[in-house]
Amino acid sequence: MLNEDTPLTPVNKAGKLSSDASEKGDLSMPAKVDMGKIVSLCKRRGLIFPSSEIYGGLASCWDYGPMGVELKRNVRDAWWKSIVHERDDVVGLDTSIMMHPGVWTASGHIDSFTDPLVECKSCHLRWRDNEIEGESCPKCGGELTEPRMFNLMFKTFMGPVEEEASTIYLRPETAQGIFVNFDSVITTSRKKLPLGIAQIGKSFRNEITPGNFIFRTREFEQLELEYFVKPGTDEEWLDYWVKERFDWYVKLGIRKENLRLRQHGKDELAHYARDCYDVEYLFPMGWSELEGIANRGDFDLIQHAKCSGRELSYYDAEAGEKYVPYVIEPSAGVDRSVLAFLIDAYDEEEVEGEKRTLLHLHRDLAPIKVAVLPLSRNEKLTPLAKEVFNKLCRNFVTDYDDSQSIGRRYRRQDEIGTPFCVTIDFESLEDKQVTIRERDSLAQIRVPVEELGKILAAKLKGEAFDASTLWATRQK
Ligand code: ATP
Repeated sequence: MLNEDTPLTPVNKAGKLSSDASEKGDLSMPAKVDMGKIVSLCKRRGLIFPSSEIYGGLASCWDYGPMGVELKRNVRDAWWKSIVHERDDVVGLDTSIMMHPGVWTASGHIDSFTDPLVECKSCHLRWRDNEIEGESCPKCGGELTEPRMFNLMFKTFMGPVEEEASTIYLRPETAQGIFVNFDSVITTSRKKLPLGIAQIGKSFRNEITPGNFIFRTREFEQLELEYFVKPGTDEEWLDYWVKERFDWYVKLGIRKENLRLRQHGKDELAHYARDCYDVEYLFPMGWSELEGIANRGDFDLIQHAKCSGRELSYYDAEAGEKYVPYVIEPSAGVDRSVLAFLIDAYDEEEVEGEKRTLLHLHRDLAPIKVAVLPLSRNEKLTPLAKEVFNKLCRNFVTDYDDSQSIGRRYRRQDEIGTPFCVTIDFESLEDKQVTIRERDSLAQIRVPVEELGKILAAKLKGEAFDASTLWATRQK
C-alpha cells in the first residue's frame, strides 16, 4: 500500500482529474517563483543557455553551461546510485539511440500519432479532428493548433541513400532498448527475477508545443527503469516503486508539499499500460508531470517476441515454470528533474539589509561543493589558498575565486548553491586556520587547515560535525 501521508490526487468517475489542475495549473496554489527568474539565474550563472544563441537560438533547445553540466551529472549520478548501485536487483544498460525500425512497429510508435491531430496549446492533449465539435479543446477550452499528420518520432536516413528503405528513427524513449536486450541481460547477468534494467539516455520527440524552459523540449534525457516481475506480483511492485520514486525527490530536498501523486484514469492510460501514476510537481505553470510510473504488463515482451520471432520469456528454475514477465516502469526526465530541483531550491532573502538570492540545493546535487576564497588577491595569501585548493579539488568539486570583494564572491556561490565556502585570511598565515562558511545558516567556523578535508567530507556526507570535538581531540 502507498504510504498514508503520500498526497494522492483523486480522479473523478470518468477517471479524469476532477479539475484541470494537472495540465493547466492549480490556481489555488500559486507557485512561489516565476519561471523568468529561474531562466535568468540559469543564464547569469552558467547553468543553462539558449542553444545556438549567436545565431538567434533554436526553439526549445537548451545548452547546459559549466555549472549546469555538473548539476545535470549529479542528478544522473544520484538516480543511478539509488536505482543501480545501492541495490542488487537492478543492472545498468546503455543502448543505441538508433534502432532497427521493426522495434518501433512492435512498440506501437509507428502506428500511434499518425492521424491528423490538433493539440491543445494549454493542456497539451491531442485530439483527432472528428473528436472536436467547436474551435476549442473539449477538455479545458484552450486554443488548438492547426491539424497536421503527426508522428512524434524524428525520422532520418541511415547510409548514403535517402530512400524509404533506409528510414530510421531517433528513439522517442529509452525503454525499448531495454526490452530488446532483455534476453541478453537475463542470460549474461545470471540474476533471478524480480530484476530491473536501468538506462539513462537521450530521447527525441517532435513535440507540437514544447516550452516552459527545459520542461518540454524536443531533445531530452530520460532516466528509465524496467523492473521485470512475476505476473500477479505486479500491483505490489507498482506500489513499491511509486513510493520509492516519490521518496527519492523528497530525499534530494524537494518539499513534500510541492509533490503529489496522480493515478491515471482508465481512459487516459497509454495503449501499453494496465495502471499508471504520475509524480507531479508544482511548477510555476502549475502541477505537472515529473515522472510516470506505469505497469506495462507483458505488452512489450509479447510484442517484440511476436515481431522478431525470438522467444522472450523467463524460466524460473526453482518453481520449474516459464512465463513472460510483467514490467513496472518508473520513467523520469533528467531535464525536468533539474528544473524541479532548481525551482524548489530557489530562494531570496534579506541579510543585513541586502537581498541575497540562493539555491538551497541538496549537497549531492550542488554543482560546486566547496569554494576556496582568499580574502583578497594579495600575493601573501595566494600560496596558502592555492595549497588548500589543490588538496580539496582531489576529493570534491572545488572552485577557486579571488576576483572582486569577498561579499560578492559569497553571493555568486550562493546563487549556484555552493554549500561551503572556505576563506583564507591574513590570520590563516599565522595560525594555519581557515573559516568555513555554510550557505544556508551563514554560520562560520574556524578550523585547522590540516583537518579541513576531513571536516568537509563529513559535512558533505550529511554527518553532523561538532567542531568542539575537534578541539577536544587536539587539546589532549
Ligand atoms: P508529457 O505528458 O509531459 O508529455 P509523457 O507522459 O509523454 O509526458 P513519458 O512518456 O511518460 O512522458 O516520459 C517519461 C518522462 O520523460 C516524463 O515524466 C518527463 O520527465 C520526461 N519527458 C517526456 N517528454 C519530455 C519532453 N518533451 N521534454 C522533457 N522531458 C520529457
